[in-house]
Amino acid sequence: MTAAHLQRLNVDQRRAVEFGVTTAEKGPLLVIAGAGSGKTNTLAHRVAHLILNGADPRRIMLLTFSRRAASEMAHRVERIAAGVMGDKAVAMTDALNWSGTFHGVGARLLREHAAWIGLDPAFSIHDREDSADLMNLVRHELGLSKTESRFPAKGTCLAIYSRAVNAEMPLDQVLVGVFPWCAMWKDQLRGLFAAYVEAKQAQNVLDYDDLLLYWAQMMAEPTIAGEIAARFDHVLVDEYQDTNRLQASILLGLKPSGEGLTVVGDDAQSIYSFRAATVRNILDFPGHFSPKASVVTLERNYRSTQPILAAANGVIGLASERFTKNLWTERTAGDRPRLVTVRGESEQARYVAETILENREQGVALKAQAVLFRAAHHSGPLEVELTRRNIPFVKFGGLKFLDAAHVKDLLAVLRFAENPRDRVAGFRVVQLLPGVGPMIAGRLLDAVAGAIDPLEALKGFAPPARASEDWPAFLALITALRSRQAGWPAEVEAVRNWYEPHLDRIHEDAAMRLADLVQLEQIAGGYASRERFLTELTLDPPDATSDEAGVPHRDEDYLILSTIHSSKGQEWKSVFVLNTIDGCMPIDLSTGSAEEIEEERRLLYVAMTRAKDQLHLVMPQRFFVHQQARGGDRHVYATRTRFIPSAIIGLFDQRIWPPLTAQEAAASAPRPPVDIAARMRGMWR
Ligand code: ATP
Ligand code: MG
Repeated sequence: MTAAHLQRLNVDQRRAVEFGVTTAEKGPLLVIAGAGSGKTNTLAHRVAHLILNGADPRRIMLLTFSRRAASEMAHRVERIAAGVMGDKAVAMTDALNWSGTFHGVGARLLREHAAWIGLDPAFSIHDREDSADLMNLVRHELGLSKTESRFPAKGTCLAIYSRAVNAEMPLDQVLVGVFPWCAMWKDQLRGLFAAYVEAKQAQNVLDYDDLLLYWAQMMAEPTIAGEIAARFDHVLVDEYQDTNRLQASILLGLKPSGEGLTVVGDDAQSIYSFRAATVRNILDFPGHFSPKASVVTLERNYRSTQPILAAANGVIGLASERFTKNLWTERTAGDRPRLVTVRGESEQARYVAETILENREQGVALKAQAVLFRAAHHSGPLEVELTRRNIPFVKFGGLKFLDAAHVKDLLAVLRFAENPRDRVAGFRVVQLLPGVGPMIAGRLLDAVAGAIDPLEALKGFAPPARASEDWPAFLALITALRSRQAGWPAEVEAVRNWYEPHLDRIHEDAAMRLADLVQLEQIAGGYASRERFLTELTLDPPDATSDEAGVPHRDEDYLILSTIHSSKGQEWKSVFVLNTIDGCMPIDLSTGSAEEIEEERRLLYVAMTRAKDQLHLVMPQRFFVHQQARGGDRHVYATRTRFIPSAIIGLFDQRIWPPLTAQEAAASAPRPPVDIAARMRGMWR
C-alpha cells in the first residue's frame, strides 16, 4: 500500500520524493523541470517524507529564494505530514528551523561562529542602501569624487564590487565584461574596494554579499566546515537556477560528496544574472558529481490551462538557447491569453482594475489575482487607480516600508546603540540633533571608533552649542539602550519618544510618520530580541501596501502587485502583465546585450507561467519614459514586445480596450483605396 502522502504524486515526482529515503539510491539529486510541474511541491513532499521516515527536522537545511517562500514551504510540509502523523506534525515542522534564504541562514551561522572567524557576534548588517552610503563615505575619504571627475556613482561602485564578489571573478574581468565604461578607473576602484572592506571590518559591519562570502570562506576552513557540515543530514535548495558561484561553493562545502544534497530548478526561468546568478550551476550539477548524480525531470504541468501553456511555450520556444522541456497538461479547456491594446497607461490601469473587479464579482478573490510588471515604478498609475477604487493591494519587490526616512532613523538609533562603530547608522543618528552636520558627526564618530569604550567616548564629547540642550537626552537614550534597561520591545517606544520632537522639527507631515513608527513598534513585538529584529528586518523587509500604516492586514482580501522577479515560484488564478511592449519587455533596448535580451525573454516566460486560468498581457500604445540622462521625460509610441512576433500571435486573443464603438470600428475597417492620382491623369487624356 502506498502511504497517503505519496498518492497524489505522479511517478516522476514520487521518484524524487523517495530517492535515497525509502529507496537504496545514494548521491545528490537534481530535479530539473519546467514551470508549474510541481518542483516546489515535490520538494515539500520530500522534506515531509524525510521527517516521516525518521529524519531529524533540526538537521535539515532548506534553502529558498525568499523568506516568504520558506514559510510557505514549511506550511506545506506540515500539511503533508499532518495527513500521516496528525497533530504531531506541528512540532515536527516547527523544528525545521534551518529553513530560509541563503542570506538569512548564513547570518545565523556566522553569528554562532563569529568568535572563530574574527568577527564580533554583534555585527550589524547593512542593506543595499546602507552599503552604498558607506561606499560613498569611503569614496569621499579617499577624495575620489573630487579628483576624478565622472567617477562612477556610489551605486555603480557597489554593483561592481558585488558582482566581483558574487561571481568570484577578478575585478578586471568584471569591468571588461559588465561595466566597460568604468574600466578606466580600475586602479582607483581597487583602492576604493580595499578601503571599503577595511571600513566594514573596523565598523563591525557586514553587507549582504559578506553573508555569502564569509559563509563560503568559513566552508573552506576544514575544521569549521566539518563541524557545520556535520550538523546537517540533508540540504535542499529550491530555484537552484538563480544561485551564484558563491552559493554553489557553500553547498559544496556543506555536502562535498553530494550525498544528502537535493537541488531543484528550471533553466528556462533563470532571471537573476544581474546578481551574478549563473545558470551553469544547475546545468553543470550532474557533470560535477558524475557519475553519482541522479536527475529527475518532470513534464506534466499542473498549474496552467493548455492555451496558457501553449502561449508560454511559444514564447520560450523562440529563445536562442534550447530548453529541452516538453510540458503538457490535462487542463485542456480555457481561453487563450488575452493580448490587450490600450491607449495609454491610465487606460491600462482602468482595464486592469475593472477586469479585476469583474473577476471578483464572479467569485475570484483578489488574493487569487496578481498584476506583474518589469520594473517597480511601472505600477504607479495602477496604484493610483486601485486606491481611487478602494481596491486593497500589497506590493512585492518595490519600495519598502523600511525605506522611509523616519523608519530608517528609528532603526539607525537601535543599530547605533547595538554597534556604535557602525558609521552609516552613526552619521544618520547624530545628525538628527540640531546643529550637528557631517563635520561634527565625523569628529564624534572618529572619537567613538578610536575608543575602547564607545559610550565613554560619547560622554566625553563636547557637543556644539546648538545641540547642547538636546545632548543629555541623547546620551541618556544611548546609555539606556546599551544597558538594555527597558527590555525588548519596550525600548522601541523609548526611541520613538526621544525621536518625536526631532521628527516634528524635520518633517512637515510628522503625524503620519509617527503612525508608521507606532506600526514599527508593533512589528518589533513580533521578534524575540533587538538583534533578531534588526537582522531579519534587514534581510526580509515587509512589503509596501495600500494601507496607510504600511503593513498589510494579512487576513483581509487584497490584490498582489509584484515585479516579475519577485513573483518567482508563485501562482494565481488570474494574472495581468503590464507593459508587454518593447522598451519595457525587453527593458532598455539601447544598452542590452544579446544575452541580456534573452534573459528578458525568460522573464516574460516566468510572468506568463504564473497564471492558472486567465492571463492578460496589456500593451499601452503610448508609454511615459523617465530618461534623466537623455534629455528628460517624454512619451513614446510603443510597439508590441518582440517576444511575441507574428509567428506566434495566433496563440493569443487580440483585443482593443475599450472596445471600439460601431462608428470607430467602421472608421478603422479597411476601405477600398481611392486613386485620386489616376483620376488626375485621366483628366488630360
Ligand atoms: P515554478 O517553476 O513556477 O516554481 P513548480 O515546478 O515549483 O513551479 P509547484 O508550484 O510545485 O510547481 O506546483 C504547481 C502547481 O501544481 C501547484 O498548485 C501544485 O499544488 C500543483 N501540483 C503539483 N504536483 C501535483 C500533483 N501531483 N497533483 C496535483 N497537483 C499538483
Ligand atoms: Mg517552484
